[in-house]
Amino acid sequence: MYKHEELLNSVDEHILNTLYTIEQWLRTWSILDILGVVFLAVLCLCIYLEARQPALIRQARVLMKSYPLNLSTFFFNDFTASLLSLSSVYYLADAMNGRGLLVNMENGPFKYLLCFVLLDLTLYAWHYLMHHCDALWVLHRVHHSDPNLNVTTGLRFHFGELLLEVMVRTAFILALGITVEFLLITQAVMSLFILFHHTNTRLPGERLLALVFIVPRLHRAHHSTLRTEHDSNYGAVFSIWDRLFGTLNEAEPEKIGLDGWNEPGFLGMVKRCILLDIDWMGRMKAIPVTIKKRPLP
Ligand SMILES: [Zn+2]
Ligand SMILES: [Zn+2]
Repeated sequence: MYKHEELLNSVDEHILNTLYTIEQWLRTWSILDILGVVFLAVLCLCIYLEARQPALIRQARVLMKSYPLNLSTFFFNDFTASLLSLSSVYYLADAMNGRGLLVNMENGPFKYLLCFVLLDLTLYAWHYLMHHCDALWVLHRVHHSDPNLNVTTGLRFHFGELLLEVMVRTAFILALGITVEFLLITQAVMSLFILFHHTNTRLPGERLLALVFIVPRLHRAHHSTLRTEHDSNYGAVFSIWDRLFGTLNEAEPEKIGLDGWNEPGFLGMVKRCILLDIDWMGRMKAIPVTIKKRPLP
């Protein structure tokens, strides 16, 4: 055998061995690991779209403030949730399961799809409540306060809101009789849509897509400073709920964020989240408009 053939054979063998090792390694991945990688890939794609074709022109200086604040808030929440072992509540609910609407349905793609649609409807109702109950709006306004709407706004939430959402999802597990795995997979897929609709971009065919899905254009109206605009488009994935319940608004907002909100740094945000800006020693009447919603005109 010629020397170069020997060399080629050894290279082939090396490539095959490497591919085999990768395949073995990938086999150890769970579906949630894969969804985690997809999440990062979608985040990068959305950031690329924002840079390539932004809907609202943002200066790099402004984004350099928004990205670190939103990401540090996200990691702070994530760290606190792990510290409190919040997801164990789901496992407790799972262990208590025995009843529920879907308990007798065979596991499979249809059950996943049904869970996904029902969770989206549940979160639509929950989102509506957060806009119409002052005590919940105090928490939810942290998400709305970002004046520089971009993909990382989809990661910016008050920890109290996340805590209450865990309760909503636990009730969802119990009501449907599904396993934790079902919930976590549907939730992970849903988070991809949440990143997508916060992306500051315009897409071709967006109007058509908006007939079924919440697209960036629809969610931009949801981040308007005007109450008539931000009290709309509550959906996370499907726009059909907003169409069905008359809460759809296709306006292009003039201003994003909350009137009267001065964007803090990370520590200022933590302090504001804990103290909630409420004049604790005074009267509830004294609370600023960013906490209590202005009545509709
Ligand atoms: Zn909202
Ligand atoms: Zn949002």
